[in-house]
Amino acid sequence: MRERTTTFIHSLLSIVILSIVVYGCSPSTGTDIPGTQTIAPLSTSIETSIPTATPMAEDDPFVEARQRLVEEGIIGMGISDPLVIEAMGRTPRHLFVPEDYVNMAYVNHPLPIGYGQTISQPYIVALMTQELGVHEGDRVLEIGTGSGYQAAVLAELGVEVFTIEIIGALAEAAAERLSNLGYDKVQVRHADGYFGWEEEAPFDAIIVTAAPDHVPEPLLEQLTIGGVMVIPVGPVGWFQELWRIRRIDGANFRSESLGGVTFVPFTREVRDE
Ligand code: SAH
Repeated sequence: MRERTTTFIHSLLSIVILSIVVYGCSPSTGTDIPGTQTIAPLSTSIETSIPTATPMAEDDPFVEARQRLVEEGIIGMGISDPLVIEAMGRTPRHLFVPEDYVNMAYVNHPLPIGYGQTISQPYIVALMTQELGVHEGDRVLEIGTGSGYQAAVLAELGVEVFTIEIIGALAEAAAERLSNLGYDKVQVRHADGYFGWEEEAPFDAIIVTAAPDHVPEPLLEQLTIGGVMVIPVGPVGWFQELWRIRRIDGANFRSESLGGVTFVPFTREVRDE
């Protein structure tokens, strides 16, 4: 009996956890913007621009694994934008994960990339990219470069990417990786992304891949009119809500919830390591 109760509780827990993971898919509309606040600037930034070349897939042993992921974990989970699907099918995720995890690169899961950070789950990358609704030639700001994978997926859509990472070692490694792979339309900066990238603003789209507890005001200000931000907002260590925020005019924004997600925290301390 006791065993049965424990099994029942476990099943119940699995359903709750599963609901949280799956919860990410059905948009509902609303007009509130999660609270904003301004905090004094933190500085230090290195900039790296990336030279030209084209990423090649000729001797890529993961073509089939990637295709399976795209079919089951991207299209199968409801992503429908053909350009996003193609971009996910072209971007070599195995080159963005640490060596020890290469064999898991095409499992639909976040993976550790060091410094307590993760490369996001492919489905979430596809969902956020789709919800940004970018077009070739757009200028896109990403906060949270991490491995550089999300930036590469965006670059595959022909947009110009400006991406900011707060941990120096990750910023440097991602800049080098993106450069070696020929992603020449991506610029990486080491800084606190809270303040956006003022010199390059405004942006047609802004994607935030770490979760703050409120929407940073400077990011809202750096959106073009009609521009879209996709951002997870919520408390550290639990699940957060993914928002799509569109700038209607100078002062008005419209936000829609895209459901529950789990992201690493948006931090404020620029780390050199
Ligand atoms: N987009 C990444 C996912 C990285 S996880 C990828 O495709 O791999 C989120 C990243 O956000 C972490 O690397 C973390 O260090 C970074 N981050 C957290 N707070 C930040 C901030 N204030 N400014 C810039 N980057 C931040």
